[in-house]
Amino acid sequence: MNYLNARLKNLTAYQPGEQPSDGGYIKLNTNENPYTPSRYAVINMGVEDVENLRLYSDPECRKLCSAIAEFYGVEKRNVLTANGSDEVLAFCFAGFCDCGAVFPDVTYGFYRVFAGLFGVNYDIIGLAPDFTVRAEDYFNCGKTIFLANPNAQTGIYLPLAEIGKILKNNPNNVVVIDEAYIDFGGESAVSLIDKYKNLIVVQTFSKSRSLAGARVGFAVADEGLIRGLKQVKYSFNPYNVNSLSARIATFAVKDTQYFGECKAKIIKTRKRLINGLKELGFSCLPSTANFVLAEHVSISGEELYIKLKERGILVRHFNEERIKNFVRITVGTDADTNILLKTLEGILNEKV
Ligand SMILES: *Cc1c(COP(=O)(O)O)cnc(C)c1O
Repeated sequence: MNYLNARLKNLTAYQPGEQPSDGGYIKLNTNENPYTPSRYAVINMGVEDVENLRLYSDPECRKLCSAIAEFYGVEKRNVLTANGSDEVLAFCFAGFCDCGAVFPDVTYGFYRVFAGLFGVNYDIIGLAPDFTVRAEDYFNCGKTIFLANPNAQTGIYLPLAEIGKILKNNPNNVVVIDEAYIDFGGESAVSLIDKYKNLIVVQTFSKSRSLAGARVGFAVADEGLIRGLKQVKYSFNPYNVNSLSARIATFAVKDTQYFGECKAKIIKTRKRLINGLKELGFSCLPSTANFVLAEHVSISGEELYIKLKERGILVRHFNEERIKNFVRITVGTDADTNILLKTLEGILNEKV
């Protein structure tokens, strides 16, 4: 490691959830969608698309940007696509953070990593005791604000009116709203981009659109901010979205019916999951995402994670102060949920 830049030597990199190569697990650890991508999108992929890999992909990703713009009723110039929303977030840290950054103590772990990677100073703002974001804590903070909404790890949604207050009280700095989970019951801040020229909304195809492996994310913002993001992108990797992923994502956006069905199923299963967990004595944070953060008085988060893994179920445990007694459970299918609840019941019965 002697050749490594000093800044990286001292950086704790992001640790992705396990992606076992042997299958065989019920995978409820990385908030993937349990349903396959849109059938309409899948059958539109052809041999020529693979052959076209001979060519560079469209650096402007015009078809996909148009489809996203149409979906949200914005203009193509308000959209930037990237290799997963992680890349959009990286562009935000690289491009808009001379003033530093702020984000909550419990949130998406990558914000801290990107800040370290790009040498951005950051402040951490604690969530309220009930794990909610207090909008007023972010007023006039003079730094670029990163908020996941619904928040990562908690699943708690901050109403759009509160986001509006944060935007209004930060006229001179950028506010990045990371909406990876917005489709599972929240209202997107995309509707605010005309009013607030300092807003960047970041979304992904990884969760609600079942395309985590395709690596497609996007930003929606005022044209000025999109130009700034493009300045970063064209200084780093103009062909950041590969042509196969751009194509399947373009069809996936157009299949609004399937999108609606999948979301509805996940929201319904989430309710069942939470009820089932509560019956077993868990307390759950109120989730508007495709996961639930849950804790139990008689078994630690880490032990639960280990026991579930031994029984073929992967969930996520975070060794972070405020949430270390919890496990984060992705909302899977109804069948997954039944097996999970039965397994948890068995584990808890063993404890008494
Ligand atoms: C999953 C997730 C992302 C990353 O999504 P990709 O598009 O797969 O890179 C970004 N932010 C949050 C809060 C997430 O949970």
